[in-house]
Amino acid sequence: MPVASPVRRTDPEAQNLDPADWRELRAQGHRMLDDMFDHMAGLRDQPVWRPPPAAARARFREPLPAEPGDLAESYAIFRRDVLPFGSGNAHPGFMGWAQGAGTPVGMLAEMLAAGLNSNLGGRDHMAIEVERQVLAWVRQMFGFPGTASGLFVTGASQANFVAVLVARTRAVGAEVRGEGLARSGLRLSAYASKGVHGCVPRALDMAGIGAGSLRLIETDADHRMDLGALRAAIAQDRRAGFTPFLLVGTAGTVDVGAIDDLSGLADIATAERIAFHVDGALGGLAVLSPELAPRVAGIERCDSLAFDFHKWGHVPYDAGYILVRDAGLHRATFASPAAYLARAERGLAAGDWWPCDYGPDLSRGFRALKTWFTLKTYGSEALGQAMAANCGLAQALAARVDATPELERLAPVGLNVVCFHHRLLSDAQNAELVADLQIAGEVAPSLTTVGGRTAIRAAIVNHRTCLQDIETLVESVLSQGRAMLRVPAEEAAR
Ligand SMILES: *Cc1c(COP(=O)(O)O)cnc(C)c1O
Repeated sequence: MPVASPVRRTDPEAQNLDPADWRELRAQGHRMLDDMFDHMAGLRDQPVWRPPPAAARARFREPLPAEPGDLAESYAIFRRDVLPFGSGNAHPGFMGWAQGAGTPVGMLAEMLAAGLNSNLGGRDHMAIEVERQVLAWVRQMFGFPGTASGLFVTGASQANFVAVLVARTRAVGAEVRGEGLARSGLRLSAYASKGVHGCVPRALDMAGIGAGSLRLIETDADHRMDLGALRAAIAQDRRAGFTPFLLVGTAGTVDVGAIDDLSGLADIATAERIAFHVDGALGGLAVLSPELAPRVAGIERCDSLAFDFHKWGHVPYDAGYILVRDAGLHRATFASPAAYLARAERGLAAGDWWPCDYGPDLSRGFRALKTWFTLKTYGSEALGQAMAANCGLAQALAARVDATPELERLAPVGLNVVCFHHRLLSDAQNAELVADLQIAGEVAPSLTTVGGRTAIRAAIVNHRTCLQDIETLVESVLSQGRAMLRVPAEEAAR
């Protein structure tokens, strides 16, 4: 006999979506929770990644379900077809791209937030106070004044976009929102290093300023922006009639983890009277480690900062953040009068801080709760220690690469990213090797290009990664390299 669905209503008169029998749903929920704890506790016993099988994909091409289904059955599909085939970023062997690993506490907080189903666009309720608490902590982390404003957004891509819009307001005035940029007659120009993340030119594109207005400044041997070249580019633009309005420094470039000279950039931005923004998506949170903080010195001087709690902060996706020094400018960039958003002296429509005044979103989820729980439970020091440990592992990997004749490092290691290649393999073969490792499922580095060469890129972001995983990476690259070299060698012998 089929088990009745915990969500199927037995009372046909009932029009709501709650279960008829909460006891069944409760039992089902507890099973789900236990399974997810088991999943997290057993990550190391699973492959980092395995390609989703065709049968699993096929089960997600079904027509829209019109009739109620059984929750337990849907959950069985999730367990079989979804859970084992994630992208692997929670796994200790994951070193691809730059992704956070999540925590069990973050997972629980997500559940609590979903249970509350708060909308953090504004109004007077406690969830807003939680987000304000996190804002106060963020100011403290980065040495910003108590008047600075800030906001959770999806990720650093969106945070960088918000920063570009705030800088546009600063340069052109809030009238630009109504009149558009063309009316101002200004030709704006922005500056970032060649290592800048692709979301920054896209932010200028989306802001109507144009990706082409971003000058990509040459970098030095450490992949940091060349300050002389920056000054020259600004001077040349001024002579050509441009209005330099924004300088973007990067705290941890996505390719190699390079950190621009943020103090030097702050000096130039001050002298040139242009907005100084820092993209700290990857490395901004290094301020939480006394060991790493000196590397991002100067970050406290920026006008705005984008960073991700979902990367090195390990808050579950998504949890990006934008911090803005001048709250008035920030508000002037987004606040709009709308009758349905009118503020009241008292009642639910009261409250003097409405996040919808500071960003493009009106309805917003409770990202602050999982961040609050993460910081309350682990503490900022432990998060900083995990980052410093990652950087120690990156140094260990760099040392192993340097000591191995078949391998060659392709960039200095200034943070937690190591780029190298197998000397005896072509660029195409190095790329093949990375795909082979990902499919083998023990360790998953990713690929990038450094100085025109294809690089095996290990971004050590995961708090679960340990020395054994670094060793596995080196051994796997070497053994896979030997296997790839064997074939042509035999062919050549014939
Ligand atoms: C990851 C990253 C981004 C984009 O952040 P999202 O959170 O993925 O939107 C931007 N800049 C840098 C340096 C990054 O590492």
